[in-house]
Parts: sequence; C-alpha cells; structure tokens
Amino acid sequence: MSCINGKTYLDRINRLHNNVWINGAKITGNLSEHPAFKGVMKSQAMLYDMQHEKAFQDILTFKSPSTGDNVGTSYLEPKTKEDLAKRRKSFQVWAHQNVGMMGRSPDYMNTVVMTFAACAKLFGDKQYTENMRNFYTHCRENDLSLTHTFIQPQVNRSALYFENASDAIAARVIEENKDGLVIHGARLLATQGGMTDELLVFPTGAFHFDAAYAYAFSIPSNTPGLKFVCRESFDNGKSHYDHPLSSRFEEVDSVVLFDQVTVPWDRVFLNGSTDIASRLYTDSSFMPLQVHQVTSRNIIKTEFILGILQSLVDAIKVGEYQHIQEKITEVIVTLETLKALLTASEVHASIDQWGTMVPDRKPLMAAMNLFPRTYPRFIEIMQLIGASGLVSIPTEMDFQSEIGDELRHYLQSADRDGYEKVKLFRLAWDLSMSSFAGRQILYERFFFGDPVRFATGLYRDYDRSEYVKWVEEFLNRQK
Ligand SMILES: Cc1cc2nc3c(=O)[nH]c(=O)nc-3n(C[C@H](O)[C@H](O)[C@H](O)COP(=O)(O)OP(=O)(O)OC[C@H]3O[C@@H](n4cnc5c(N)ncnc54)[C@H](O)[C@@H]3O)c2cc1C
Repeated sequence: MSCINGKTYLDRINRLHNNVWINGAKITGNLSEHPAFKGVMKSQAMLYDMQHEKAFQDILTFKSPSTGDNVGTSYLEPKTKEDLAKRRKSFQVWAHQNVGMMGRSPDYMNTVVMTFAACAKLFGDKQYTENMRNFYTHCRENDLSLTHTFIQPQVNRSALYFENASDAIAARVIEENKDGLVIHGARLLATQGGMTDELLVFPTGAFHFDAAYAYAFSIPSNTPGLKFVCRESFDNGKSHYDHPLSSRFEEVDSVVLFDQVTVPWDRVFLNGSTDIASRLYTDSSFMPLQVHQVTSRNIIKTEFILGILQSLVDAIKVGEYQHIQEKITEVIVTLETLKALLTASEVHASIDQWGTMVPDRKPLMAAMNLFPRTYPRFIEIMQLIGASGLVSIPTEMDFQSEIGDELRHYLQSADRDGYEKVKLFRLAWDLSMSSFAGRQILYERFFFGDPVRFATGLYRDYDRSEYVKWVEEFLNRQK
C-alpha cells in the first residue's frame, strides 16, 4: 500500500473508536469531530495530503523496497548522505506547513520506528528482532501514525525510590501467557494520545533493577483495556483569526492507563532484560537520528518566530532602537547556529555499527542543549517587543460588530489597519501569552527529556582528553 492521504488518516482513526477521556467523559462519536481534536487532526490530515501533491511528492515519499509504491520519507532508513538530506527536506516541508508548532507530526515517531528497526539486533532475542523489523515494515507500508509513552508517572523521583510491586503505579508486566504480555499501570506522556493508529511503549532509559519494567512493544490505540486520559484542551473552538495557532496545532497530551492490557507476542520487542533496556538509547543511533528530525523542525519554528518578531517591529516602527535590534539579532544568532549545527551533522555523517548513515552526534547534541534554553527567551523577547499590543486584541466578533470601524481606526499600526494589526498581534499573543503558548514553552523545555540530565549526558560523552593533554603540554613548555 502507498502512503495515505488525510481522509484515510481521519477515517481510520474514527473507525478505531479509541478509549479517550477528556473533561470527565469518554469521547463517543468521531474523534475528528470532537472540539479538542478537530483542529489538530485536520492539520495532521493536511500533512498526509501533501504526500500526494506533485510539488512535494519527490521530497515526502520514496519507493517502498517491498512494493515499489510511494511511502513516507520519514520511514526511509538513510544509507547515504543524500538520504539524510532528503529526510531533512521532508521534515522541513511538513514543519513549514504547521509553522513548526506540531512537535509530534508523524515524522517524529516514524523516525523512532525506523531507527529501532535499523538496529533491531539490539533487542537481543531473534524473535523480538524480527518483530521490530516486521512492525517497521507494517508501519511504513500502511503509513501508520503513532504516539508514544517513554516515561513513568511522576510519583517519586528520588534516586532511592523503588515502587512496591503489589501497589504498582508505573505500568509493569504482571503476567506472561500464551497470548502475550499483560501490562497493568500507568505511563506518561502521550502527546497526540488517542489520535494515532498505534501506541509505542519503550523503557525510560534509566536503569531498572526490576525486570517487570524492561519491556518495549507497540499496540493499536484501540486495544482493550487501554485508556488515554487527556488534559483539558487549549483549543477553545475559536476562529483562526482569534486563536491562529491553538485552533490548528493544539496537540493534546494524555496520560495512558493500562488495565490488564494484553500485548500479543508478535508485538513485543523487549521483555525482561534490564541490561538491554538500559542500552537502547545509548547503543542505537536513536539520539542523532531523532535530533536530526527535531532540529530540522526547530529551524523552521525559529524562522517563523523571527518573521513574527520582525512583523511586530515593522508594525509599530520600533526597529530604530538598538535594544530592539539586539533582541532580533539574538534570534538570528540562534537560527544560524542551529542551521550550522544541522549542516555540520550531515557533512560529518557516517555509517554506524548497524549500517545506517547517521548524522554526527556532537553538533546535534549541542543543538539539543541549545534550543530548550533559547526558546523561552524568544517568547520573552516577543513579550518585550509586543508590550501592550499583546493584550489590545479584541476578537473577530468585535470587528464584526457595530464598533468594528472604530476598532479598525483606533487599533491601527504604522503599517496596517486595526483589523490587520490585531490579526498579527493575536498570532504573537497565541505564541507568547495563551495556554497554548505556555504549553509550547514547557514542551520545548522537556519534550526530549530533562534538560539537566541532557546536559549531563553531553558532559559525560564529549571527549575533552585531547584538550586537557594540550594544556598539560603547554604548562610544561620550556620556551
Ligand atoms: C508538553 C510535553 C509533551 C510531552 N510529550 C511526550 C510524549 O509524547 N511521549 C513521552 O514519552 N513523553 C513526553 N513528554 C515527557 C518528557 O519526556 C518528560 O517531561 C521529560 O522526560 C522529563 O521527565 P518528567 O516530566 O517526568 O520530569 P521529572 O523527571 O519528574 O523532573 C522534574 C524535575 O526534577 C529534576 N530531576 C528529576 N530526577 C532527576 C535526576 N535523577 N537528576 C537530576 N534532576 C532530576 C528535573 O531536572 C526536573 O527539574 C512530554 C513532556 C511535556 C512537558
């Protein structure tokens, strides 16, 4: 089967009737028509539609090695630097469509599946290795969408805390039987939970002494016993004028509950090996391949933010002030740094032990340490430049009312009338002040893990021995 279009995506998810809870009730009826999901599912569907547009087909698809049909580029296992470039272009074409706001556009998870299939031998057991590879082929050929839960509930993060097995909170294997593994408990945090075909569950990456937490699998989102419990939605059903971003790109986050869920054996990739569980992220090329996708998107997001900031500056004519120029320059510097790091990662790409062409890890780790710190600053800059303009924002209905003409006049900026000025400033508001904005900041800080432990990882892995040796040599110079 070839890559899907938006309609197939929407129909398929609606048919699953996933067990999704929001605001104290289970969603019945079509998920794509529910107020919390309508906007974002439409945006997701548009991405799938693009795979069939002539202008994007060469970038967004490649020929399936099994059937010769067009399948999604994010499933392409890179073997050459050209493959990496093709992957980057496809990420950026999609990110452009959602102005970098959908952190979990399908290419994110497709990359995870591709990466672990490429190093499937890492899963040890012959059957699990085969399961991982078969699952990848199944996803690629059917263009499946996925969500994931890679962490355990935030109950007690003390290093000395061990959960009591008889009163388990974090999902664990409670039984193995002829049908598969039985999982019971909770996992965090499935962004897009409920609006995808599949749920991928992997171990946290931290070492666990208890083998009951050392599992990896994927199951259809409508598997019996599986529940997605969503936070309240930040899409308030307002127009694109009023909430330009939250009405389109609000990716709901959910807690996932497993009530004695059976995972069939052919969907199990790992079971019981704490050793393999702790090596999954270090011995695979998960980090560089994933951060390659993430940084490609972050570049597009930064470009969009830069565009908004400059539009604000031009609208109220504050570009002559040095501190404004300095603030805009801060964003430019980050943008150029991200681009340089991404290019460097591709130029210095090499084949890993699994035979995959992998972008250089070091510049990507630098990019991944940089962005979670600079993104909140971008938003601060937006508030500092937008000032009262970010709250002088009547709604579309106000403009359509009898006071509309007054608003057009009194709310004008140096370059546009009140309606157009408020339209621009509402966009800046939705990115810097709304609930959607707050969630985006938290997302960029944490979505790929704890930034503190991420920095620790770079500290640990970055080889400085040569420089230390050099300093010693200098200290011992006789001349
Ligand atoms: C908006 C959003 C969307 C997300 N989407 C997904 C998703 O789709 N799928 C998914 O699997 N996950 C997702 N995540 C979860 C994300 O991976 C985690 O937030 C991240 O790994 C941090 O874990 P935590 O939130 O449990 O924070 P915690 O680990 O509880 O950390 C809380 C605080 O304690 C500190 N801390 C805790 N333990 C240690 C330690 N050992 N050493 C030093 N400091 C420590 C941290 O630095 C931090 O300041 C998402 C998160 C957010 C915010």
